[in-house]
Amino acid sequence: MERTLTILKPDCVRKQLIGAVAAMIENAGFRIVAMKKTRLTKETAGEFYAVHRERPFFGELVEFMSSGPCVPMILEKENAVEDFRKLIGATDPAEAAEGTVRKLHADSKGENIVHGSDSDENARIEGAFFFSAEEVVRVDK
Ligand code: UDP
Ligand code: MG
Repeated sequence: MERTLTILKPDCVRKQLIGAVAAMIENAGFRIVAMKKTRLTKETAGEFYAVHRERPFFGELVEFMSSGPCVPMILEKENAVEDFRKLIGATDPAEAAEGTVRKLHADSKGENIVHGSDSDENARIEGAFFFSAEEVVRVDK
């Protein structure tokens, strides 16, 4: 079993799509093993996206990610990292495949509804960014 970290971003929460996106996630076979509603500050958003610090969109990204509450989750599934990236689609919704979360719900490359970890190592780092060990609970069928 593999894990990945997602964030339902502030646009997802504002559009009242938490339930719709969570349903897509569960219907695709992922188990939600940790979840909370929280709000990033500019500082913590910048820390989460530190890898993009030098990119031209960094300032906008930090503004957006701290603009309202978000819902991080740790998800579990075989091949979770890769399968979740497939479920959400390309970063830019204009390039995302039909039926993906971003194709269905995202407005732009910046405001694109969800985050998904891009590797096992980053999934672990990002999971620990939001959740303590006690907050991660796997319930067997
Ligand atoms: N982003 C942006 N403009 C860009 C590229 C990315 O605003 O040209 C934002 C967008 O919210 C994206 C996040 O920065 O989801 C992280 O970028 P990355 O390339 O890692 O895309 P992702 O892994 O989220 O698909
Ligand atoms: Mg990324």
